[in-house]
Amino acid sequence: MIKIKTQEEIEILKEGGRRHSSILKKLAKKVAVGVSTEELENLAVKLIKEGGDTPAFLNYKPYGAKRPFPTALCVSVNNEIVHGIPTESPHIMQEGDVVSIDLGLIHQGMITDSAITVGVGKVSEEDRKLIEHCKESLMLGIKQARGGNHIGDISDAIGSFARSHGYGICAGLSGHGVGYKVHEDPYVPNEGRKGSGEKLKPGMVIAIEPMLTRGTDKIVLAKDGYTYKTADGSNASHFEHTIAITDGAPIILTK
Ligand code: MG
Ligand code: MG
Repeated sequence: MIKIKTQEEIEILKEGGRRHSSILKKLAKKVAVGVSTEELENLAVKLIKEGGDTPAFLNYKPYGAKRPFPTALCVSVNNEIVHGIPTESPHIMQEGDVVSIDLGLIHQGMITDSAITVGVGKVSEEDRKLIEHCKESLMLGIKQARGGNHIGDISDAIGSFARSHGYGICAGLSGHGVGYKVHEDPYVPNEGRKGSGEKLKPGMVIAIEPMLTRGTDKIVLAKDGYTYKTADGSNASHFEHTIAITDGAPIILTK
């Protein structure tokens, strides 16, 4: 069931989103050759604490998972798509790496979810384009997230753009409702038919999150039970914003 947020809750989400994006920007600045993914995690925990807030992913147990998620951040490098664990076999970043950072933040009981992908030093032209196009597909999806439109309008905008540039769209991974919990209804797929799915109503809060690859749609789950990788080893990019639906253009809460 889709839960509509009150105006008061949306105000809390706005402030949470403001804090959220400020943390993500600081994490992006920290990304450099020789820095480990664990250092990103430590910085995230410090910044969240300083703001008096709580990480949403730490100890979160998704349906079907064998253990709760062990860190505040998901950091996924190169062929890792999402849900990489930055403290278990931490990765030392190297020139040309593609690093996706995903954060969930709880501010006054309300949750925002947002992700960015950053290149380490100079990345290949193909990876630079992948990152840029993934971000662009998110913005195209957000543009369709208007009251009266349907979930399928968002899915179509992301999927059509991604396919036209030859990218893979990670099968089985999608956006979602958010706010009271990390994952709520509805699913927000990254490919779909215009006009299909739930109708968007003011007060709905959703996370839109294209996950694109330079190759396959196929994903594999690593032994850690969380990290999803591309089946063909191709690099992936991930961008995500939490937005609130209104009668007109949506509010990008994590901008
Ligand atoms: Mg996320
Ligand atoms: Mg999400």
